[in-house]
Amino acid sequence: MIDRLGRNITYVRVSVTDRCNLRCRYCMPETGVPFLPHEEILRFEEITEVVRALAKLGLRQVKLTGGEPLCRHDLPALARMLGEIPGIEEVTLTTNGLLLPAQAQALADAGISRVNLSLDTLRPDRYAEITRCGKLEDALSGLQAAQKAGMRVKLNVVPVRGFNDDEIVDLVRFGREHDCPVRFIELMPVGLGASRQGLSNAEVLDIIQKAMPGFTPFRGGKLGNGPAVCYGWQDGGVFGLIGAVHDRFCASCNRVRLTADGMLRLCLAQPDGLDLKPYLRDGKEGMQAAIERAIYSKPTGHHFSEQDTADRTMNGIGG
Ligand code: SAM
Ligand code: SF4
Repeated sequence: MIDRLGRNITYVRVSVTDRCNLRCRYCMPETGVPFLPHEEILRFEEITEVVRALAKLGLRQVKLTGGEPLCRHDLPALARMLGEIPGIEEVTLTTNGLLLPAQAQALADAGISRVNLSLDTLRPDRYAEITRCGKLEDALSGLQAAQKAGMRVKLNVVPVRGFNDDEIVDLVRFGREHDCPVRFIELMPVGLGASRQGLSNAEVLDIIQKAMPGFTPFRGGKLGNGPAVCYGWQDGGVFGLIGAVHDRFCASCNRVRLTADGMLRLCLAQPDGLDLKPYLRDGKEGMQAAIERAIYSKPTGHHFSEQDTADRTMNGIGG
């Protein structure tokens, strides 16, 4: 669907839960997180109804996210339901990977062929420190399980000063060796992200250039549905940069978000959206038209530098 600024909206990120089995320091506080009450979370049938309405408007790709989406019971069933909606071409997943060993095959069988796995470090002690409670070996087992089940994996890395900024090159090399391209995402000043300092894409590019020169803009297409700018070497290996803060890719933004409690969010950096619960639960009529109006009026873009977004957390928004 084309919005009022001529952007073609084809992609929805569906958050299936705000809960998570990790507590990454730039994403969630360790304790005292006010989670949504169970009854506020959309049921699979309700999510499917919304995605069906979006598909009628021309949205084609769905990404399941959270919180940690694999914490939601029987996610493969939802993946299957969404994949069967006429018009939906692809359902993918973003995960910290810890629960993939148990679920990868069922997810692949349900039609998920691509996974983004968040991995900010390759050092066990640091992984435990950044995530507060995770084990690196579990995430790596998840990566292996996904690849064994035939899914293509990309690694998401948020480079944060003093956390993992000395591992940029190691992570790129790891991605090359394990056939899982790394994408570096600029830390957004949302929630706890506002209290840390991220590296800009320009800094990341400079670090890789110094250690592994010779890459050129990647001609093999894009890495996913997102705004990553990709580079590769002639003898193999690709990495991507997502300039979430500095690149201002709002002019070509192709996405909307559905939160776990049924808000259609038009822009990650804007708090407002369309509450779909009254349509899904209280018999209010006209959801299709309301969604169409909301998407048509999608905000121009984000203004991270001018806005205070620290009151919201990324696990609630869906990344
Ligand atoms: N739990 C899953 C995971 O970690 O992949 C899915 C949800 S998580 C919110 C989605 C992505 O958002 C992760 O790659 C995470 O690193 C990223 N993220 C979280 N907080 C962020 C922030 N402030 N700025 C940029 N990316 C962030
Ligand atoms: Fe959980 Fe993902 Fe946030 Fe880490 S980034 S706390 S894994 S939702």
